[in-house]
Amino acid sequence: MLRTKNNQLYIEDISIEEIAKKYSTPCYVYSKSSLIKEFKEYQTAFNMKKDVLVCYSVKASSNLKILNIFKELGAGFDIVSLGELERLKRINADPSKIVFSGVAKSDEEIAESLKYGILFFNVESLDEMENINFIASKQNKIANISIRVNPDIDPKTHPYISTGLKTSKFGIDINQSVNVYEKAANLKNVNPIGIDAHIGSQIFDIGSFVDSLERLIDLYNNLKENNIKITHFDIGGGLGIKYSDDDMPPTKKEFASSILNKFKDIDCSLIIEPGRSLVGNAGFLVTSAQYEKNNYGKHFLIVDAGMNDLLRPSLYNAYHKIEKVNSTTNEKISYEIVGPICETGDVLGTNVQLPRCKKGDLLLIHSAGAYGQVMSSNYNTRPKVSEVLVDNNKHISIRKRETINQMLENEENYE
Ligand SMILES: *Cc1c(COP(=O)(O)O)cnc(C)c1O
Repeated sequence: MLRTKNNQLYIEDISIEEIAKKYSTPCYVYSKSSLIKEFKEYQTAFNMKKDVLVCYSVKASSNLKILNIFKELGAGFDIVSLGELERLKRINADPSKIVFSGVAKSDEEIAESLKYGILFFNVESLDEMENINFIASKQNKIANISIRVNPDIDPKTHPYISTGLKTSKFGIDINQSVNVYEKAANLKNVNPIGIDAHIGSQIFDIGSFVDSLERLIDLYNNLKENNIKITHFDIGGGLGIKYSDDDMPPTKKEFASSILNKFKDIDCSLIIEPGRSLVGNAGFLVTSAQYEKNNYGKHFLIVDAGMNDLLRPSLYNAYHKIEKVNSTTNEKISYEIVGPICETGDVLGTNVQLPRCKKGDLLLIHSAGAYGQVMSSNYNTRPKVSEVLVDNNKHISIRKRETINQMLENEENYE
């Protein structure tokens, strides 16, 4: 969906220059056809063999329009907060396709999700299970639950985004989990219907997913012997995407066939919770060059987007490909691309080879669709930027740039 025409970069049929002119910079841009393509790839990869529910992980990129696009394609959703539930209510998402994850579900989050009628909660502790039971009893309901187990798998990804190791706060020790299911079976207002795991993010090693699923299947068989009948497997998200040209993530098809191969004799519904692999490569951050300077041999290019707009490079040392939007020369300079924030860590790219940039030149930061805008902040009292959707030869705003008044409106008692 990205191409070059007359030395200009285009997303679908719209030039980045046109976007920047209309919405100013910085701004996030998403390609609709790319969102659809990524979703359909999962559907095709899995649904040839089995009816699989793809629950898009809302936290990866939660704009209402993006959620709506996935809803129209038949997606379910994986949520982690009351705010994300409210987003789904706004788009009239089917409650029977919603699962609720997260280690610290509040009483209000549990109560509201029960009222909306979600498919199940992914329970992360015995305490939480008892609390769900209590809240469900007050509503005279039975809450479907699935136990998130921690399978102790090393997904060989960044430690910050490894969630299935025994040292992490997520899930319940898989060795104790039979016990938890037995306890659940004795509670009146919860119904244990699922097994769940989510081992991490940006995973390239399919073997890790397969190992995790194997452990879930062992547990399933174990539960069966104990007369606990499970009907749903939720294997989480985590499939990696290409950030650099050298990255070789598994395809969705490869992922699906390894999973289905292990799963073929299991008579349960299968749920996956992809986030990054649906939106990551469909989104971009457009920024423009402000100033350049040479300090002790380092060539800095200062741009108008910073770590408050895209945190991943500062937080995880993550790499994002950066390209100049309009270029007529092949001569390259090695730039340190930095933002306006008063932090040394406000770096978007190191040693980036670009044609010489002058004030106003546009840069495109790739693969910013996942954990991009959603992680942005108001640090340095900078407004959150706009989001734009490109659909063939059309573009629409899907989120207005925040105003300074909006940033200040909740502050009080300062006089
Ligand atoms: C974040 C998260 C996901 C999505 O992970 P991706 O790596 O973006 O696919 C899925 N499930 C749970 C429980 C999560 O916390």
